[in-house]
Amino acid sequence: MGEASIPASVIPIADQRYRAAVPSIPATLRPASGQLSDALGRPLRDLRISVTDRCNFRCSYCMPKEVFDRDYAFLPQGSLLSFEEITRLARIFVAHGVHKIRLTGGEPLLRRHLETLVAMLAELRTPDGEKLDLTLTTNGSLLARKAAALQAAGLRRATVSLDALDDAIFRRMNDVDFPVADVLAGIDAALAAGLGPVKVNMVVKRGTNDGEIVPMAHHFRDRYGSQAVLRFIEYMDVGSTNGWRMDHVLPSAELIEHLDATFPLEPLDAQVAGETAQRWRYLDGGGEVGVISSVTQAFCRDCNRARLSTEGRLYLCLFATHGHDLRHLIREARASDAEISGAIADIWAARADRYSEIRGHGAAPAGSGERKVEMHYIGG
Ligand code: SAM
Repeated sequence: MGEASIPASVIPIADQRYRAAVPSIPATLRPASGQLSDALGRPLRDLRISVTDRCNFRCSYCMPKEVFDRDYAFLPQGSLLSFEEITRLARIFVAHGVHKIRLTGGEPLLRRHLETLVAMLAELRTPDGEKLDLTLTTNGSLLARKAAALQAAGLRRATVSLDALDDAIFRRMNDVDFPVADVLAGIDAALAAGLGPVKVNMVVKRGTNDGEIVPMAHHFRDRYGSQAVLRFIEYMDVGSTNGWRMDHVLPSAELIEHLDATFPLEPLDAQVAGETAQRWRYLDGGGEVGVISSVTQAFCRDCNRARLSTEGRLYLCLFATHGHDLRHLIREARASDAEISGAIADIWAARADRYSEIRGHGAAPAGSGERKVEMHYIGG
């Protein structure tokens, strides 16, 4: 493969799940500079890799049971990127400036031998010779068993999702009757293995688990202090299966006001550019919490994230309707690293996505009406 031989066309895909274009390979290939900039001047720093589209939970806001039932056709094994393919692409992304990789899914710990992939990714170095910030988002169900092996393989940190401390509420939300205690055991194991501080993600759905905000804050500050950072996520209109409604969203500003009444808070500055969470500190020194307000206070202008789906499609926005089929470049086009690198550079240079900001202004974002990708497929 040498020239610009692959047209940027929309190709039919095996299961017709989502649209994807085959990326063009530029005629002139330039070495990666580590300094990509998109159409809005945003760099590429953070890559989220979905390693499986399967999950053992059926959270109603993400993979509702009625849709993701026994008959649902998950991706066949052969569609998934292999660990070698993931690592090859990750190496190219790192040369383009990515210094943080988050493994996600679906439930990433369902992917067999995940620690082998972690070890392969842990070998990568940024252009400055630095190790990657290698992390994982998990529902915690298998973490107690796997934390030590993941840490030994080179994982640096873990984020654990937990939506309630109350067992009945949590079992109802995960919809597979999974107990809170086992997730807490996973968090303990992650901390014992040296994967701390652990971030704990709580999606807040008004009328469902908003009564858990103060108990969750209480538990995590008292038990773990600065070793656990609780982050409240606004319920997002991601995908198209969760029946999202604005009145189910609890705006972060309201949440902070509510929490501040029990535990007085003050805002903190961002640690790194492009951070998704706004940080708040307990005034009594009990640690910090974060809020991720992608519905009410969109942060598109700082978004430096790309997502690689389970079957190797590059997505430039969590709310995208179509991706760029990098697996095609690897498997069918047999493109070289330099060609794939050139294709990625061009895709990033053209990126202008800012779905949440446009939606926040009351306008219909581009692609509205088309089917958005589901979070379990693209990776949260
Ligand atoms: N299975 C892993 C987990 O549970 O963390 C990783 C994948 S999950 C899709 C990643 C994160 O996305 C979780 O914290 C989950 O709660 C969050 N999430 C899923 N659907 C969401 C939605 N509609 N709004 C906000 N957060 C959502």
